[in-house]
Amino acid sequence: MKRALAGVVLGALALAGCSSAASGSVPAKAERRSCVGYVGLTIDDGPTANTGDLLAILRARSATATFFNVGAQAQKYPEAVKAEAAIGQVGNHTYSHGFLDQLTDKQAYGELLGTNQIIESLTGTAPILFRPPFDRVNASTEGIAQSLGMTTVLWNIDTRDYAAKNEMVQRFAGARAGDIILIHDGPERTRRALPRALDQLTARNLCTGNVVLSTTPHFAWHTQKFGDITFNAKVVPPSGG
Ligand SMILES: [Zn+2]
Repeated sequence: MKRALAGVVLGALALAGCSSAASGSVPAKAERRSCVGYVGLTIDDGPTANTGDLLAILRARSATATFFNVGAQAQKYPEAVKAEAAIGQVGNHTYSHGFLDQLTDKQAYGELLGTNQIIESLTGTAPILFRPPFDRVNASTEGIAQSLGMTTVLWNIDTRDYAAKNEMVQRFAGARAGDIILIHDGPERTRRALPRALDQLTARNLCTGNVVLSTTPHFAWHTQKFGDITFNAKVVPPSGG
C-alpha cells in the first residue's frame, strides 16, 4: 500500500517538475549543479494578502517551497494559490485551522476533504501532502489524510518566526540537507527575514527542494506534548530526480 502510494507521489512530482520547467521559472542549470543538498522550506497558514511578496522573494532567489494552505484562506485569495502552484507544491493545512484531534472523525474528514477540493479546483491537482495545525496529530488524523491520498508532513526545524524574537536567520544557518523547515505566511517579520535566511542556505550551497513521501521516519521538532513523533517525508531536488 505504502509502495503504491509512493509511486503516485513520485509520478505527480515528475509531472510538476515538467510543468515548471516549461514555465521557465526554475533555477538556472548552473545554479542547480552547485547544490550539495536540499532542504524543504514549508510555509504554513496562507495564502494571505501578502503571499505575493513572499513569492517574489523566492523567485528572486530561484527558491521553491511547499505551501500548506488553509482552505478558508484559499477561498479568500484564489489567485495566490495559483501563483504558489507555479513555483512550488501546494499542501493541505485543514479548512479552518483548529485542533483536529479534538474533532470527530467526520468533522476532521470534512476539514481535509473540503480543503483538497478547493485547492484542486484552483490548481488542477489535489494535494498529496498534509500538515496538521499546531502539530496536533494522531492515528485518526493520519489515517484520514492517508485515505485522501496524502502523507502527513511535520517539520524538524522550527524557526519561531511567529514569536517576537524571530530565529529564522540563525535556524536557516544551522539547517542541514534533508531538514524540513517551518515558516509562516503572514508575519511581517517573516517576510523581512526571508531574504537573509535564504542567503544562509546559498552560502553553504544548500538549495530548496520538494517534500515527498519516504519510508524512513523523520523525527519531528516538537515532541514534548505528544511523545516521540516521527513522520514519513523527505526532501528531493525540485525536478524529482
Ligand atoms: Zn498553521
